[in-house]
Amino acid sequence: MAELPFTGGCLCGGVRYEVTAPPLSVGYCHCTRCQRRTGTAASAQARLAPGSFRIVQGEELVRTYAPPDGFHKCFCSSCGSALWSKDPENDAVMSVRLGTFDGDPGLRPTFRAFVAYAAAWEPVPDDGLERR
Ligand SMILES: [Zn+2]
Ligand SMILES: [Zn+2]
Repeated sequence: MAELPFTGGCLCGGVRYEVTAPPLSVGYCHCTRCQRRTGTAASAQARLAPGSFRIVQGEELVRTYAPPDGFHKCFCSSCGSALWSKDPENDAVMSVRLGTFDGDPGLRPTFRAFVAYAAAWEPVPDDGLERR
């Protein structure tokens, strides 16, 4: 793993954040919602340790999509980057999208979730990762 804190941000650079503790887990989500919100076959994301996340810049640009159930999805209102999601019942439970980290944080996904919903046009790779 790279040195802490990890830093990251959105495509336009308006939103910047830092992560001050090793994430609890890192994995891919193949669910239909993640396909929709990313426009890709799966979302790579890190579940963060509670209290380890801080917005450094651009908090006013962050907008939240709050579906009737499930995690709230936070994104940059300027460039549309999908940034992180939060448990509506507990703000400390959140996942950051791996593609928004600067450089290589040294994190590697260890599982694939919701593989039953995987996109037909991109089969789940036979990479030995745990499938959920
Ligand atoms: Zn942005
Ligand atoms: Zn998902």
